[in-house]
Amino acid sequence: MKRLEYRNVTMRFAGAKGATVTAIENVGFSVADGEVISLIGPSGCGKSTLLNIGSGLYAPTEGEAYVDGERVEGPNEHVAFMLQKDLLLPWRTIEQNVLLGTEIRKLDPAASRQKARDLLQAFKLGEFSDRYPHQLSGGMRQRAALARTLAVDPSVLLLDEPFSAVDAQTRIMLQHDLAQTLVKANKTALLITHDLLEAVILSDRVLVMSKRPGRIIDEIVIDIPDRDHPLKRRRDPKVAGYIARLMDQLDIGEHPAQDQAKEPA
Ligand code: ADP
Ligand code: MG
Repeated sequence: MKRLEYRNVTMRFAGAKGATVTAIENVGFSVADGEVISLIGPSGCGKSTLLNIGSGLYAPTEGEAYVDGERVEGPNEHVAFMLQKDLLLPWRTIEQNVLLGTEIRKLDPAASRQKARDLLQAFKLGEFSDRYPHQLSGGMRQRAALARTLAVDPSVLLLDEPFSAVDAQTRIMLQHDLAQTLVKANKTALLITHDLLEAVILSDRVLVMSKRPGRIIDEIVIDIPDRDHPLKRRRDPKVAGYIARLMDQLDIGEHPAQDQAKEPA
């Protein structure tokens, strides 16, 4: 079953002096129930635009997005967004922050409170539920933001570079927490990341976008077991091959074959 689907999506923005910028062109793919897909591509190729279209914040110029088979026609409550910045409200405790989306959606308060406590427990924040965001470390705040994203029990999680503002070791722990949660709750997610290793170890598939206008130029199926154990996946010998292919697609790094070709015979 398809949780999220893009069909022939093109997005144009008004640029400077009446020019039009085509951010993405004819993008189509779907994310199945319980699947995690990473989206990688150069800056400005339209990754965030795609998430904004999936969440209903932007209406595409052409094509359409579907969530659970229904066409996305405006901000929709079956989708939850998480960004690089945790965006926790400073005047609310951690638990109150986790409950924010459930209040906006008017979900049952008692059930939501139980769910928030369970999530905070799962993210090792149980003891901190009455603290305020400024009393927590960056990694803890991102875990709280993740708990808030999950508290509304969304059909689809849209994660836009969620870990890019934390240090490398915190990031590894957050990847572990995220992977565990996604697998346990059988959640569907579309993740944007610039970190090729992160894309490989967290995903079932990685989609590569071209530079603007962004199109999907490659799809790599990650054939490594244990998606709930990114630490284990990290050590799998197949990882290096996937990363090499991603680097080639993104045109990153040295090209020994080309360099050799330039040398006089
Ligand atoms: P990415 O997330 O891959 O870095 P974005 O989706 O943010 O890229 O942006 C893709 C292109 O669309 C960029 O050229 C950006 O300037 C443009 N763009 C994105 N959002 C808007 C907007 N609201 N108005 C005008 N141009 C936009
Ligand atoms: Mg972006």
